[in-house]
Amino acid sequence: MTGNSFVRDNLDRVLENIINACIKAGRPVDEVQLLAVTKTVAPELINEAIDWGVTAIGENRVQEFLGKRDALHLDGVKAHLIGHLQTNKVKSIVGTVDMIQSVDSERLLTAISADSEKKGIVTDILLEVNVGREPQKSGALPELLPELLDKAAQCKGVFVRGLMTVPPILDTEAEKRKIFSEMYQLFIDNQSKKLDNINMNVLSMGMSGDYYEAILEGATTVRVGSAIFGRRQY
Ligand SMILES: *Cc1c(COP(=O)(O)O)cnc(C)c1O
Repeated sequence: MTGNSFVRDNLDRVLENIINACIKAGRPVDEVQLLAVTKTVAPELINEAIDWGVTAIGENRVQEFLGKRDALHLDGVKAHLIGHLQTNKVKSIVGTVDMIQSVDSERLLTAISADSEKKGIVTDILLEVNVGREPQKSGALPELLPELLDKAAQCKGVFVRGLMTVPPILDTEAEKRKIFSEMYQLFIDNQSKKLDNINMNVLSMGMSGDYYEAILEGATTVRVGSAIFGRRQY
């Protein structure tokens, strides 16, 4: 196999950091899933990461994912949509990915559910929370989460597997851990509710700059892009 071994070296380093974070947190290593974020990355590099053991990838944009999909070795690999989804793209993506992580409105819930029902499937989703309350960011505000969960319980075409967040970029370890711990608390508070179509076991948080801290605070999925594939070229 040809290829750029920097992807393998990076991947080994990330996996080692994940293991170390689990050990530090006293958590079983298999509790944390690595989602390799592949936006802007060429299929050859993505396939190299897959050959080196990546079992889940995350893409941000519907068109980009659909354009690359046929070139990817997705056998046995999960694909997640992690970027903001417009309602008019719902039809194109439902049924092509294993999970949509970025659901943040009733409108989107309804659209994904309706299209899934039409296709005879149930789509696994995460609800995206704007835990840092940043005006420019997608994600539901924390206090709107209960309403969103009630709505999801009525949407037979979706199944809520957990929560996702993209927190503010913070400098210190203490600040990072504080915001992740807020998110974890929110996850725990809402997890206990017994609602239809909802069983929250996934907490998706942590990216290249902060996945270590995210794991310390309870992340079950970390979404890592540039630490594996290098700086993105847009
Ligand atoms: C791009 C992106 C990531 C990965 O970011 P890196 O800093 O490159 O690891 C994770 N999550 C979302 C939602 C993204 O858009």
